[in-house]
Amino acid sequence: MKNRAMDTERSDAAIDDEGRAEQIAAAASLKPLFHPQSIAVIGASRDKSSIGGRLFNNIINADFNGPVYPVNPRASIVRSIHSYASVKEIPGPVDLAFIVVPSRFVNDVVRECGEKGVRGVVVITAGFSEAGAEGAALEAELLDIVRGAGMRMVGPNCMGLQNTDPDVSLDGQFGPVMPRRGNVSMSSQSGALGLAILDYATEMHLGISTFVSVGNKPDVAGDDLLLFWEEDPNTDVILLYLESFGNPRRFSRIARRIAKKKPIIAVKSGRTLAGARAATSHTGSLANLDVAVDALFRQAGVIRVGTLEELFDVTALLASQPAPKGRRVGVVTNAGGPAILAVDALVSQGLEVPELSDGLQEKLRRFLSDTAAVSNPVDMIAAAGPEEYRASIETLLASDEVDSLITLFIPASEDGVAETATAIREAGEAAPSDKTFVCVYLQSGGAPSELASPDVGFPTFAFPERAAKALRKAATYAEWLARPEGRIVAFDDIDASRARAVVQDAVAGFDEEGDWLDPGAVGTVLKSYGITVPRAEVVTSIDDAVAFGKNLGGPIVLKVISPSAIHKSDVGGVALDVSGAAAIESAYERVTGAVADSEGVLVQEFVEGGHEVLIGMVEDPTFGPLIVFGLGGIFVELIGDVAFRIHPLTDVDADEMVSEVKSARLLEGYRGGEPGDIEAVVETLLRVSALIEDLPEIIEMDLNPVKVGTPGAGVRIVDARIKVRQTKS
Ligand code: ADP
Ligand code: MG
Repeated sequence: MKNRAMDTERSDAAIDDEGRAEQIAAAASLKPLFHPQSIAVIGASRDKSSIGGRLFNNIINADFNGPVYPVNPRASIVRSIHSYASVKEIPGPVDLAFIVVPSRFVNDVVRECGEKGVRGVVVITAGFSEAGAEGAALEAELLDIVRGAGMRMVGPNCMGLQNTDPDVSLDGQFGPVMPRRGNVSMSSQSGALGLAILDYATEMHLGISTFVSVGNKPDVAGDDLLLFWEEDPNTDVILLYLESFGNPRRFSRIARRIAKKKPIIAVKSGRTLAGARAATSHTGSLANLDVAVDALFRQAGVIRVGTLEELFDVTALLASQPAPKGRRVGVVTNAGGPAILAVDALVSQGLEVPELSDGLQEKLRRFLSDTAAVSNPVDMIAAAGPEEYRASIETLLASDEVDSLITLFIPASEDGVAETATAIREAGEAAPSDKTFVCVYLQSGGAPSELASPDVGFPTFAFPERAAKALRKAATYAEWLARPEGRIVAFDDIDASRARAVVQDAVAGFDEEGDWLDPGAVGTVLKSYGITVPRAEVVTSIDDAVAFGKNLGGPIVLKVISPSAIHKSDVGGVALDVSGAAAIESAYERVTGAVADSEGVLVQEFVEGGHEVLIGMVEDPTFGPLIVFGLGGIFVELIGDVAFRIHPLTDVDADEMVSEVKSARLLEGYRGGEPGDIEAVVETLLRVSALIEDLPEIIEMDLNPVKVGTPGAGVRIVDARIKVRQTKS
């Protein structure tokens, strides 16, 4: 691509050093929360049904590896343990304090913790920022106390935390479940949901390393936990249940680094922007909070799941198996119907079920009966026993024709189930490290213990569809891992000062809401950034229109300029392909007559043919600028086949935006259609990103349509709107 200059990003080494320092600091400060030497429970209650009672009992019952001190001014003994009236009376040091007192006492108690030298607090008590203005003020004061004392805080308004490491054995929450030990760590923004997840994780044979209910999270939030888990040897997979982001940019930066080492799986409730403002651009009406979250996760390599079921399935897969190296899946089964369902599910997930080579089919044929099908799926038929399963699994896993293998087992009777399950387990656990192995056991009673215990080295799903979905999510993650880093491209032919002057001049006349630039200014801004627009001029008389039309030579386009006509063609304000003075005159009358508030006419050269695409941008208040690409011109909202990314775009992001949009295949010359200049589209996306970077005044932009010429012919933006607003500084 032309005009690409140096990489403007700082060197990777500098970023690594900064990330490393941040990681070390966060991990050290959170250590007292996860690895305390001693614990106080302030508000430990003798009433076993109260929250303070349940929490205290959980800590005792889990055999925490250190002293636990109940603090309760109204009881001298709690559960046979001497209790203290205040944390300050505890004779030994206290690393971590759980706070379960009424909200009006919390701040005093936490202040005492600071004085005592406590290093971490978990505030279970509710009644803070979630409960209105008064609570928010209390929470702000609480945070000040915590920060002033150099402590870290989980909560307030949370369920607590757990660490299953046997050296710690901390069940610091008031729910009923202490999960089995495992390599999955989890943060939940909803306490109740966190509990449900723990409960279900146990049922799904998933082991947990640490669990944190973050509550209102004014201090310890998802970002800090990610940094802690980044180097935590007990954590291989990270789960996040998110309702909101503190600082999406920080989250994105941290997650992007950590996802390279450990999979991060997130459920984010997909609420759309509350009371989304009346959108007056195509981009504005396409954008909502959910596309922003999607873009953020995708760019950061975070695996987004839509349901809790998917959360467990993907987690179960990645907690025990490598992410698939590619999309090719083999299927082994003892029944045809379920295998067809599996293949349908795999294909609809975008995975491939390749035909096996003759050589491989021959190998399978050696030990399978004549009636077995040895293509893919490999249907060993109902008579298949342990040896057929073992040999088929081993043969497929040893081949280089599939990246992952789904083994379906549908027991025809109870006879031999244990033997077959054992064979599947042994063969599956012996899978080479570059193959992904999963099992599907299709029976309402659930999988037999040979396949269902927490130490089985692969997941067993109840349905083929769930296995297929999990495989796809994991494959997409592996593709993200393998994709090149990407670079932010700088262009050396940009006239930034000219564009800035035009924007600042316009903004000076607008109120704080901002407004749309006039067509002349839009043209100048785009041209300054090397974004190609047709030759055009704004005219206010028929004579000037005719004169400019003559000057342009070929056929022209006339468009009315009117504040009321947001979509000009909707009101008959656009005349296309006009030639000759007489036609120009009548077109001029027609387009200006279409509105009551005509301010003139934009005369443009007519751009013949070409695909029409949309490139747009809208600023999200929390996520920053979002950039969108799609096909379809005025039908773009209807079709909804668009790709969003968060600014800034790397070259890889821009390439992916185009390849991700299904209808963009039209630009490749689909079915004999005219191919388009994809490279020029990608370049325009990058130039738009450069423009947005330099001019933070731009809050919304619609380039619709961008006319895409044949390869090499470039693109032309025939309609553009740019909204600007004074930046707050
Ligand atoms: P609006 O979006 O406000 O209705 P446009 O300027 O996008 O108005 O024009 C409407 C349609 O007319 C475009 O989507 C495009 O198909 C076509 N069009 C506009 N300008 C040109 C041009 N200069 N050359 C060729 N076609 C054009
Ligand atoms: Mg348009």
